[in-house]
Amino acid sequence: MFANSKNVLKYIFGNGTFSQLEELIESQKSSDSNTAIIFVDHYFKNKDLISKLSKDPSNKIFWIDSSTEISTDLIDNLACEAKGISLLPCCVVGIGGGTVLDTAKAVSNLLTNEGQAKDYQGWDLIKNKGVYKIGVPTLSGTGAEASRTCVMMNHEKNLKLGMNSEHTIFDQLVLDPALSQTVPRDQYFYTGLDTYIHCIESLNGEHRHSIADSFSYEALRLAREVFLGKEDMMSDKNREKIMVASYLGGCAIANSYVGVVHPFSAGLSVVLGIHHCEANCIAMNVLDEFYPNEVKEFRAMLDRQQVNLRRGLCSSLTDEQYEKLYLSTVIHEIPLKNALGEDFKSILSRDKVISLFRKM
Ligand code: ZN
Repeated sequence: MFANSKNVLKYIFGNGTFSQLEELIESQKSSDSNTAIIFVDHYFKNKDLISKLSKDPSNKIFWIDSSTEISTDLIDNLACEAKGISLLPCCVVGIGGGTVLDTAKAVSNLLTNEGQAKDYQGWDLIKNKGVYKIGVPTLSGTGAEASRTCVMMNHEKNLKLGMNSEHTIFDQLVLDPALSQTVPRDQYFYTGLDTYIHCIESLNGEHRHSIADSFSYEALRLAREVFLGKEDMMSDKNREKIMVASYLGGCAIANSYVGVVHPFSAGLSVVLGIHHCEANCIAMNVLDEFYPNEVKEFRAMLDRQQVNLRRGLCSSLTDEQYEKLYLSTVIHEIPLKNALGEDFKSILSRDKVISLFRKM
């Protein structure tokens, strides 16, 4: 069967568009429900970005700690708290990086689908359309604003997997490049590189889709301009470019699969709690044999932006930790088959995987 693709239906783009968010939320309020559930990155807690929104008592603000990966338990708790405020809110809003956007998507799905978050980790398991959701990225690169998934850690199963479904896609986006002005430089780099890595994995995979390829090529062109160009990577123009690259990378990944980097990165997140985007870069740096040209280009970007990647993180772990790293990597069969073929385990043996982790 051929996949039937869906993209975000509506988006507003440009500096200052955040000011229109309030109006978008208001337009969803009705006599049935006027409660808006708004998830905001805790980074904005004492800043005045959302002061106007938080003054309206029908808007319920939840601060999300984005320093750790979200878990299925957290999503269950948030959905439960949201239902306590309103059984069916008029909309769910996510303001932040990939973590916060994914939180908004997952909670929206759980508000209209019974059970727990872990029941929906997988492909096309969501039965009912979620609550209307608005995404406002404040950091660019993960593509979470455009993708059909919301990634969560399932600690019970040692698994990192999303609710892959067309119901997970945002109904509305507010893409305001001005919001990423104050992001720390390293975080900006790691996050921006997520879209670069998604696209090179997708373009090197066996499973190809012509529209996804075009999205990927354009996202890569923009990412190269931002991270290898003469202008500062965080200039106004470059923050706009990486926001577009992130969106296009997210659209690409909706019709394609990642490859070798993301499974290794997932291992680092599951076992050592390293954040997705930094973990990608740490993994990328040792995967020369799978992506020789791209790893070279990636290192040129690191140099150009003077980012010091953490090293030696996996040089002396316990046998049990190495075993867990191996298992939480090879569990990602779909991307690994996409990159290396059906017989990927003959290339990625236990010894091979562990030796690669030891280099990180
Ligand atoms: Zn990613």
